[in-house]
Amino acid sequence: MVRLIVSCMDYRLSEEILKRAGNDALILRNAGANVNGLKEALRSLGDQVDEVIYLPHTDCAALKLVYSAIKEGKRVYPEIEEKLVKQFRDKNFQSLQDLEKINAELGESALKAVFPKAKVTTQLIDVTKIKIPERKPKYYLLKPQSRYSGNVIGAYVIQAPDRSHVTADIKIAESLNLKLEKSEI
Ligand SMILES: [Zn+2]
Repeated sequence: MVRLIVSCMDYRLSEEILKRAGNDALILRNAGANVNGLKEALRSLGDQVDEVIYLPHTDCAALKLVYSAIKEGKRVYPEIEEKLVKQFRDKNFQSLQDLEKINAELGESALKAVFPKAKVTTQLIDVTKIKIPERKPKYYLLKPQSRYSGNVIGAYVIQAPDRSHVTADIKIAESLNLKLEKSEI
């Protein structure tokens, strides 16, 4: 019986995630709550997962990157194109809000496909309605079992079983000028 939380690395979300994680949930976080980029990480968790809480959010920097790559021709690393941007190229959207909705739908259906027996729920976190910590220009690479305290709150958090699952996300963190503060993976 394992609960899994999948969300974005965004600095504003840590307390919202902790509220839902309890002591036992596994947490995966990458740029954009991008399930497509986490498929290998998800498969590595295997059959143990029976509940998934999917937490994308509004005002997401990763989806802004997708928007500017597709609508404004901004160039991105091939790895970011492959893991994040490409899945949206054939989608019809006019605004960041449209893109957030599409991302939430794609993510939920991908999670249901990987965990057909699990209960999957999606909550799009509205960042105008949560308590926002002071932003720190740092990121942490943590294991799915890890929790946040002290300095981690307000920093960006990438969580996965292995660094190889999040290489595109690390590139995005670097493109946001974040400094790696600590790595467990
Ligand atoms: Zn985000």
